[in-house]
Amino acid sequence: MFVPMVSISDLEAAGRLGAEGKWFVVDRRSNILVHDGDIPRGANAPVEGLTVHLLGIDRGEPVWAVEAHEEIDVPALAQWIHLRQLFGSIEEQDWALAGRAAQIVNWDRDHRYCGRCASPTDAHAADRARVCPKCGLMAYPRLTPAIITLVERDDGKALLAWGAQFPGRFYSALAGFVEPGESLEQCVVREVKEEVGIEVTDIRYFGSQPWPFPHSLMIGFQARYAGGELVPQESEIVDAGWYSHDDLPPVPRGGMSIAGWLIEDWLKRQQG
Ligand SMILES: [Zn+2]
Repeated sequence: MFVPMVSISDLEAAGRLGAEGKWFVVDRRSNILVHDGDIPRGANAPVEGLTVHLLGIDRGEPVWAVEAHEEIDVPALAQWIHLRQLFGSIEEQDWALAGRAAQIVNWDRDHRYCGRCASPTDAHAADRARVCPKCGLMAYPRLTPAIITLVERDDGKALLAWGAQFPGRFYSALAGFVEPGESLEQCVVREVKEEVGIEVTDIRYFGSQPWPFPHSLMIGFQARYAGGELVPQESEIVDAGWYSHDDLPPVPRGGMSIAGWLIEDWLKRQQG
């Protein structure tokens, strides 16, 4: 059993223990405790947690993440809602904070032992890190960068692909994880080549998005078709094709993901 833990520097930085704050209570499956339709507020955690982390100060209010016990009694008017389903039901900045809370809680829980020498780790006194008292290995919150890219042709059509991981017929931009030693641009070129067999050029940064499922950072690009025939990679892509704005398969439009923002931006330019 772990004792609720807040590092001294966190408390000093906040200077606000006991002040009203927002409490993101997270369980092992990234469910978030919602009270009366919103994130609980108060001077104390709404439930007793295993660990407590100060995420920061948001609009003058301390923001806390709490790792929930596996079995807790949910207070009256409260319920668990998965982070993914929570989008749209609370304000967007709170949803982003919930994503951060889930990632910090999950990272902390997954790094209680040193990956090098297996000793129990301690919370670092100043940084958000776990440190091994025996060998000194530091473990920082883990982020996995992934690129997502919408490829366009000179005739205005965009490349949309039905990924094998989608539950039904659903098309989107191409995405993939960045390999160690690879630049983001190299990753775009490699992923597009691997997944659909074509060459791209004119790679432009579009924007980025934290994607807490479980700990990605999505980096969005636009790219231009440069040559080759579409050959979908069997294990990853069910189908891929060039689509015009007036003949679209099911795609994300705006909404919670950068895939939707990329497609929405392309559609606006096509229809503009
Ligand atoms: Zn160690």
